[in-house]
Amino acid sequence: MRLADGVAVLELPFRGPMGVQGMINLTLIWDNDTVILVDTGFPGQLQQIREAVDWAGVPFDRLDKVIITHQDIDHIGSLPDIVWESPRKVEVLAHEEEKPYIEGRKPQIKANPERLAQMLAVMPEEQRRRMEAVFANPPKAGVDTAVSDGEVLPYCGGITVISTPGHTPGHICLYLNQSKILIAGDALVAAEGKLFGPNPQATFDLDAALKSLKKLTAYDIETVVCYHGGVYSDGANERIAELANG
Ligand SMILES: [Zn+2]
Repeated sequence: MRLADGVAVLELPFRGPMGVQGMINLTLIWDNDTVILVDTGFPGQLQQIREAVDWAGVPFDRLDKVIITHQDIDHIGSLPDIVWESPRKVEVLAHEEEKPYIEGRKPQIKANPERLAQMLAVMPEEQRRRMEAVFANPPKAGVDTAVSDGEVLPYCGGITVISTPGHTPGHICLYLNQSKILIAGDALVAAEGKLFGPNPQATFDLDAALKSLKKLTAYDIETVVCYHGGVYSDGANERIAELANG
């Protein structure tokens, strides 16, 4: 879905851990100089991403930056493949705090053994084996550039980094200065045409996540892209303020 000049949401279907089909929403941002992908799906989605980028009218081979909102497997899954397969050097950007997890120097924060065992225990045999294989050898890739709160990345009309800890310690949202689009990562969730705060079950530190919502109220937001749930544009400022004060 094309959101603005040089901004498209790439909606990718996936097979979740419980075998249920769902959708995730990556964002592509581009101009004549730069092509940026925000988040990279689950492991094994390179081909889908390639097709979606081409569909947006941008040759995949022009991709030169990937910004990762946070370390979770559904956000960094195909990062190693993208970095490996791209004909040009792809610069990977993420918050400093997420770096060791994305690089595989620390186990992903939500992939602790108890949590994994719980999750795997309820899966059908075949899926369990697939997931065990993924977690035995989780995706990892080098982060070239650490970004920090308030930094404006000088690409595609300016991209403001908003540090929004909670879902993970180094979670970031991105604000596109020109189009007033907020790429929310997992700080906000959309469902059935409504916008909601972070999903408590998936959130590392809920208090911090709720505080982070307050930070978002400082921006004039016309459209929100939620990784889970897609695009929301029905009075975004008011709704975010409501959630932040709720
Ligand atoms: Zn997620």
